[in-house]
Formats: sequence, C-alpha cells, structure tokens
Amino acid sequence: MKYILLDRDGTIIVDKHYLSDPERVELFPNSAQGLKTMQDAGYKLLVTTNQSGIGRGYYSEEDMHAVNTRMSELLSGYGVEVKAIYFCPHAPEEDCGCRKPAPGMFDQAIDDFGLDPKECYVIGDKLCDVELGLARKARSILVRTGKGRREEASCVGKADYIADDLLDAANFIIKNK
Ligand SMILES: [Zn+2]
Repeated sequence: MKYILLDRDGTIIVDKHYLSDPERVELFPNSAQGLKTMQDAGYKLLVTTNQSGIGRGYYSEEDMHAVNTRMSELLSGYGVEVKAIYFCPHAPEEDCGCRKPAPGMFDQAIDDFGLDPKECYVIGDKLCDVELGLARKARSILVRTGKGRREEASCVGKADYIADDLLDAANFIIKNK
C-alpha cells in the first residue's frame, strides 16, 4: 500500500500563523483536486503537522483538532479522505523526537499502517518536510505554496521535485509511478 505524508499549514491549507480557529481554515485552490488525483492513483493520504503553538501555549490541542476536523470536512466534500493526522505538540526547545524533521511521526505511521517508506512520498512547504522524507528514504516534494518559495533554494538537490502546488505534485507522482 502506497502512502503520501502531507504537511498541513502552507501545503493543504493556507498558513495563517498559529491557526486555531476552524472558521479560518481555507484550502489552497488546487489542494482538493491534487489530493483527489493522488488518491485516485492509489495513494492513501496521511497528514504530519508540527503544532508548536500547543507547546508554546498559543492554543490548545482541542483547538487544533477542531481545525483538523474542519479541513477534513472541506476535503471530504471533494471525495478526499485523510486516513490519519499526526501532530507534534512540542515547542522546538523541548527537543522531542516528533517535531519534523525528526522522524517520530513517520515512524508512528509506519507502525500504524505497515507502510514501506520506499513506496511513500512526503510533501510539504518546508525543508523539514523534505528532510523527513530523506530520514526514512521516502521520496519528497516541496510545494511552492505557503513558505515554499522561501525554502526552495535550500531544498534543491534534496527534494525529488519542486511543485507549484498539490496538483502539480500529483501530476509528478502519476508520471513517476
Ligand atoms: Zn514533538
């Protein structure tokens, strides 16, 4: 079974800086179509998200779940199903094993779903997403949405592809199956 591990803020939904209000969840224009294309190509979709806003005390874990639920609702309207959402609630100084690029969330997904990293893609708008893929020898794609343009230079030579958005990423994945 093939899986795609996707970042949330700046990748699927617009990065609104410590977003905690489900009313403000907004998909990027090509997010739903891109994810549907990946799903139709036989990939199951997982989300891995760094949520240091919890560790910093900016919002609660409950707030984050409400945002996740809203995102999943919006996506399900397009027939897109997110199988699981993994999150790191820690602030950077807590030095945990799950804040990307540390591979804790990927390892948890391997345990939960028995996935083979070589069959997986990791997609996000930051170097830490690309490095999460590298950590477990999965392929990785940087998207230019969110902070992607700012991160692009640091990802050249590390990411397998740099995509304009999730639809562009989906088309790359289909071509390279
Ligand atoms: Zn963590």
